[in-house]
Amino acid sequence: MNESVKVWKEISSYIEASMSTVSYEMWFGKLVPLTIENNKLILVAPLVSVKRTVDGFKDTVIKEAIEKSGTYISDIVVVLEEEAEVYKPEKEPAPIEKPVEEDNFRNVLDPSFTFDNFVVGDCNNIASSAAKAVAENPGVLYNPLFIYGGVGLGKTHIMQAIGNYILSADKNKKILYVTTEQFVNEFVDSIMKNKDNKLNKSFREKYRSADVLMIDDIQFLANKTSTQEALFHTFNDLYQNKKQIVLSSDRHPKELTFLEERLKSRFQSGLTVDITNPSVETRVAILRKKAEIKKFRVSNDVIFFIADNITSNVRELEGALLKVMFYCDLMGKECNVDVAKEALKDYIDVTTHVISIDNIVDATCTYFNIKRADIIGKKKVKNIVNARQIAIYLINDLLGIPLNGIGDYFGGRDHTTIMYARDKIGSLCKTDPLVQAQINDLRAMIQKK
Ligand code: ADP
Ligand code: MG
Repeated sequence: MNESVKVWKEISSYIEASMSTVSYEMWFGKLVPLTIENNKLILVAPLVSVKRTVDGFKDTVIKEAIEKSGTYISDIVVVLEEEAEVYKPEKEPAPIEKPVEEDNFRNVLDPSFTFDNFVVGDCNNIASSAAKAVAENPGVLYNPLFIYGGVGLGKTHIMQAIGNYILSADKNKKILYVTTEQFVNEFVDSIMKNKDNKLNKSFREKYRSADVLMIDDIQFLANKTSTQEALFHTFNDLYQNKKQIVLSSDRHPKELTFLEERLKSRFQSGLTVDITNPSVETRVAILRKKAEIKKFRVSNDVIFFIADNITSNVRELEGALLKVMFYCDLMGKECNVDVAKEALKDYIDVTTHVISIDNIVDATCTYFNIKRADIIGKKKVKNIVNARQIAIYLINDLLGIPLNGIGDYFGGRDHTTIMYARDKIGSLCKTDPLVQAQINDLRAMIQKK
């Protein structure tokens, strides 16, 4: 791959992550890398409008992406096809050889993933306290630390925050953060290099010399038997040497059914913590934090509007905020709720999709195949009671309606009954995979456009 393509791939991945797919495709996806001149990456735009828009983001999105990418590029210059002629064919800069050791522990952590930038709420306070404790005393307290939770809820952020924290205290610490995919690829590569199928020495040395090993999204280790074996030995070695291990996954280690038993039990031998969906208060706090980081002045109305409507996960929440930001900048419009509605119309059908108690109760009835009159009524049959409690939990969680209000809806039930239902399902959600799956299905049904 030629150098400009490679560098653009790296930088654009950060741009892509910082905005909605629609905006990215519309503007940045249309740029073609041409060459690199004096550390400036030259990109060709097919249309003047694309060039103009992209140029408008030089000081914000682009600057940030260049910084995050850690490449040597100092700036990006967008030219039109007719201007591209003046650039001579690309000269490949000579790759800089790095000593192996340094390269192994090249810092790949995203510097913005810190504890300071991580908003703590009910959904993540245990995970965040555990992560801080680990960052302060790596290898001592909770080893391994296993963090699990749904997509876009902050697992990678919190993991990398541990790494950034440890490095800020001691920059010589060997922090090895890898995705499971990287770990598997490196393992496979190292085997292929050796004719006798033995593990390559450099792989072994790299992983066993880490002070902290973090492997993200371990669920992707499914059916990789020999990589699991390599991980098992690496794990034991590091563990015996009191080196910290941090793992993340989309599910509890017990649910990693494709994993060898011995690995599963190792994973559970330290502390296992979960991250769940943020409540509306936490979503508001996250939006405030993100707006502050991006220096985006946004009113409370707009923040609440986004927090009320984007409930799926934090990544989407962040994407929505960026889209509103992008839209206001692009259109030169003042940022108010109407503009936000317009900007987010692809995300949410604001006109028809307002979640109500009725929506939640109806979805629950459909899902469990029971009658509306029964869920509201007094029947004590097990499946009806279960569905009723789940609906109560969801109403409280998604709409934040006070307990006595919910009690009124359910035929004048006392608020303690409602509280009991909410707490029971709330704790089952953490321990019972079936309830977890039911709640996830229902959320998806209710939140569907
Ligand atoms: P996961 O690894 O669980 O899929 P990430 O860690 O990649 O999720 O988080 C997705 C995005 O949401 C990141 O930009 C991250 O900074 C942000 N995020 C998630 N949780 C929080 C939080 N509690 N406070 C601030 N930002 C958060
Ligand atoms: Mg992640």
